[in-house]
Amino acid sequence: MIVDLRSDTITRPTPAMLEAMFSASVGDDVFGEDPTVTLLEEKTATLFGKEAGLFCPSGTMTNQIAAKVHAQPGEEVILHKLSHLYYYEGGGLMSNSGLSVCLLDGDRGMISAQDVLDHINPEDLHRPRTALVEVENTMNKGGGAVYDNNVLAEIGEVCRKNGLKYHLDGARIFNALAVTGQPAADCGAIFDSISVCFSKGLGAPVGSVLLGDKEFIRKARRVRKVFGGGMRQAGFLAAAGVFALDHHLERLKEDHRRAKALGNLLSTLSWVEEVFKVETNIVIFRVKTPLTAAAVCLEFEKQGLKAIAFDRQSIRFVTHLDFTDEMQEHTVNVLKAVKY
Ligand SMILES: *Cc1c(COP(=O)(O)O)cnc(C)c1O
Repeated sequence: MIVDLRSDTITRPTPAMLEAMFSASVGDDVFGEDPTVTLLEEKTATLFGKEAGLFCPSGTMTNQIAAKVHAQPGEEVILHKLSHLYYYEGGGLMSNSGLSVCLLDGDRGMISAQDVLDHINPEDLHRPRTALVEVENTMNKGGGAVYDNNVLAEIGEVCRKNGLKYHLDGARIFNALAVTGQPAADCGAIFDSISVCFSKGLGAPVGSVLLGDKEFIRKARRVRKVFGGGMRQAGFLAAAGVFALDHHLERLKEDHRRAKALGNLLSTLSWVEEVFKVETNIVIFRVKTPLTAAAVCLEFEKQGLKAIAFDRQSIRFVTHLDFTDEMQEHTVNVLKAVKY
């Protein structure tokens, strides 16, 4: 048996999702004529209480578009140093939009309102003008950490008082909402823009939706075209997202349950130094020196278990739609069998 815990992006569409994709009504979305793309955009926007949505090929694109619309070249973005928008998007903030960054530290990848307040640049011609604050929920590099909703709201207050835009990288926002129980519309009310991914826990093959007010999405649609993200009969893909919203939200809790069980087991193993708190579908743990994450992953691989070495000492597991109870059992057996 091969068990793949590298990412929740490795899932394939279920037969029912494929069926929905095959039978989608489509048109040319660059002409605004694809009913299924429009449906997904409206459905997602309504869920989060936002005016409008924009379907894009990836979460990298929705994040990059948001930054470009919210800030002008030479302006600065405040965000955690391990946030996807900075750490995993190839320097796009700089190359796509000419933006400066102010990188914050913070427990498990999360920042606070005070942190943000302390790093807003004063009106001073020497300093880049602070324009945007970005947070990630759940926080990937923080081990799928879930923000306290009050902290997100407090950061929002700081943004409003200081004339800053506020963007949420919600690639895994539904994982966060499954934990906090916060209605999506309450989450939507906090941010100027939100990026939601369908290709992670929701199990769609492709796609993210950017949310915001009508004016923001009008500008974003133009940037998407410039970035080469205008797609034609994209309704076949959007149909997977619509299907996921209807059928794959409730089951995220199963991913969380399995991840927690793996975290609990890992914390009992002699060769594991530390397990990050497991709140959602991501488990990050550190192996003891002189072991390295790369060597341990190689050993896992020999036993049919794929994982990602996150840094020298850390390994990441991500549970997902294609990870079954039998696979969980296999994973438990492999972890117990590895001897160091
Ligand atoms: C996956 C992910 C994205 C977007 O990634 P794409 O592969 O470009 O869709 C953005 N933010 C976070 C936190 C992610 O995990």
